[in-house]
Amino acid sequence: MIIVMQLHASDAEINAVVDEIRKAGLQEHVSRGSELVIIGAIGDEDRINPGHFEIMAGVERVNRVTKQYKIVSRDSHPQGSVIKVRGIPIGGEQIQVISGPCSIETQDQMNIAADAVVAAGCRMMRGGAFKPRTSPYAFQGLGVQGLEYFQRAAERHKLPIVTELMDVRMLDTFMEYDVDVIQIGARNMQNFDLLKEVGRVNKPIILKRGLSATVNEWLMAAEYIAAGGNHNIIFCERGIRTFETAYRNVLDVTAIPVLKRETHLPVIVDPSHAGGKAWMVPALAQAAVAAGADGLLVEMHPNPCDAWCDADQALTPDELKALMVTLGAIAQAVGRTI
Ligand code: PEP
Ligand code: MN
Repeated sequence: MIIVMQLHASDAEINAVVDEIRKAGLQEHVSRGSELVIIGAIGDEDRINPGHFEIMAGVERVNRVTKQYKIVSRDSHPQGSVIKVRGIPIGGEQIQVISGPCSIETQDQMNIAADAVVAAGCRMMRGGAFKPRTSPYAFQGLGVQGLEYFQRAAERHKLPIVTELMDVRMLDTFMEYDVDVIQIGARNMQNFDLLKEVGRVNKPIILKRGLSATVNEWLMAAEYIAAGGNHNIIFCERGIRTFETAYRNVLDVTAIPVLKRETHLPVIVDPSHAGGKAWMVPALAQAAVAAGADGLLVEMHPNPCDAWCDADQALTPDELKALMVTLGAIAQAVGRTI
């Protein structure tokens, strides 16, 4: 930790800071410049609280040197981690496109969607049974009935399933239904009790970025899951809220290389919730793959006009198929496969 003293800090104030550092079992390193004194606290930074020093007389500011996230940090695992979902790798050379409808509606809808996912060449399927809707009067998802439709449709093709968990009380049900990947939605990224609970299971977790979450907050949210023992975490950038109103959210492409540098865990992108319109999805998906994403989460509906949720942003089965062809070319250009 680095403690920068104020311009005219007295010797007594400097000594008080040094005493506190020693009391915590760390060593001080005092650098005296012509104007400023900077004190380094050498040792286990977790033993001292920056806030404690910030309020001391004569202190200008305090900066941590080490990162607060440890398990998810690339420092702890310099090679990228590959997470296997029923043998399908996420984070390796092969890019995974997870597709399916926003919400599970009927058995027929899910059967047709599962066929379309496979026809397009995708290896995993998405679908929401519990939907986080802005309005309490909007369709909230079919619940457990939806999980049943989903499993039945996906099993016909042995497709692993991805679905959102909103309430910790449903976790046992998710385990009973053998959900392959649990999605934590943007609105729950900082629901710390939920994060702790999914940290105790061995299922891969897709952790979506909160609507207004910084990269650091997102990494810390993942650390909550990892600290419980579950290191199978996949980050999902899905657009953030900015001043722009021309589209649903702003896809933060910059976050992809930044996260890939900060963490060893896979990073995927959801272009559907970022743009909010189907016609934007191909461009955003292509940008994500070019920028180094390990996968995509793309909404597709057998008949988007009839979708019960997020109709505007759903691709048709044919559009998904066409997108996969383009993505193949981009993947090859960046040394990957799809
Ligand atoms: C979803 O994937 O259907 C969803 C609700 O996403 P988000 O949490 O990113 O809004
Ligand atoms: Mn949706």
